[in-house]
Amino acid sequence: MPAAGGSANCDALIVGGGPAGLTGAIYLARFRRRVLVIDEGTSRAASIPRSHNVPGYPEGVVGGELVAAMRSQAVRYGARFAAGCVQTIEADNDGFIVRYGPEQTRARTVLLASGASDVTPPMPHLSEALRSGALRYCPVCDGFEVIDQRVGVVADSAAGIEEALYLRHFTPYVTIFRTGPALAPGAADRRRLARSGVVLVEAPIESIRLWQGHVTVRHGAGETECDALYSALGLHVHSELGVALGAKVDGKGYLVIDRHQRTTVQGLYAAGDVARGLNQISVAAGGAAIAAAAMHLRLGTPIEG
Ligand SMILES: Cc1cc2nc3c(=O)[nH]c(=O)nc-3n(C[C@H](O)[C@H](O)[C@H](O)COP(=O)(O)OP(=O)(O)OC[C@H]3O[C@@H](n4cnc5c(N)ncnc54)[C@H](O)[C@@H]3O)c2cc1C
Repeated sequence: MPAAGGSANCDALIVGGGPAGLTGAIYLARFRRRVLVIDEGTSRAASIPRSHNVPGYPEGVVGGELVAAMRSQAVRYGARFAAGCVQTIEADNDGFIVRYGPEQTRARTVLLASGASDVTPPMPHLSEALRSGALRYCPVCDGFEVIDQRVGVVADSAAGIEEALYLRHFTPYVTIFRTGPALAPGAADRRRLARSGVVLVEAPIESIRLWQGHVTVRHGAGETECDALYSALGLHVHSELGVALGAKVDGKGYLVIDRHQRTTVQGLYAAGDVARGLNQISVAAGGAAIAAAAMHLRLGTPIEG
């Protein structure tokens, strides 16, 4: 195991190789900083069958291809990569000691770009459903793709009501399915749903299955077929490494950042789905660009001594 003490092995260590981490790596490598990206390889972006709202791709872009292109751009400018899971980050004098697998390294600054993961609905053939567009997670991303389709929303909280009303902008055929009794809308919410023509199925979901590119939801005595099913079951935000260092999170678990993407811990920055903000590729990339510029300034120049 390499020694942890002494001078830092890198100027900027980046946790996560999705759009946020890779944008940070491209910028920092081009700022002539020593960059190490450690990535477990579970980017949400890599699971997108084809995104149509990433600027610059009028025909859309396959998520995995976008991530691969960003990574090769970072490599071209000298960013180094290691596959693995960062287990701990400890503050150490002016920097951090980062442990991953059997390795450890010292870094002067850290960008947390560890993203989030979706809570999946209880159904078989998840990957196939995702690939075909029968299962979706993000109406901001792809509401346009379900215009006038029969859309279902799997919900276990009031967030599902808001997601259903949001989707109503794209299609008049929206139905909410409940995973259990936890979602119990009050009279005001029921009126909002009724006014918008959103159907709320009272009986809880018994099963969800994928059949010939459609999703069939079984509930009580009936079943409903949908062209697309959105999961509104939420996200698990990967902010634990920041929390362990003492960084503040908001009520949903997102790292609190300022306008330079600084967390509340000196030298620790955050961008993408792990930080407060809209969960989007452009936002992840924009946030990481801001973070990288601020990290570069913090790192200073050799002339400053
Ligand atoms: C099905 C789907 C469709 C979507 N469609 C769109 C779309 O069309 N347009 C759009 O703008 N957005 C879309 N999104 C959202 C978009 O994918 C995310 O906003 C984006 O990926 C966030 O980038 P990120 O770099 O923050 O996180 P991610 O892309 O999730 O990358 C985080 C990386 O960090 C790694 N990691 C986490 N913890 C550790 C650790 N401890 N050590 C090492 N590595 C770690 C993970 O393995 C992962 O590789 C979609 C999401 C999904 C799930």
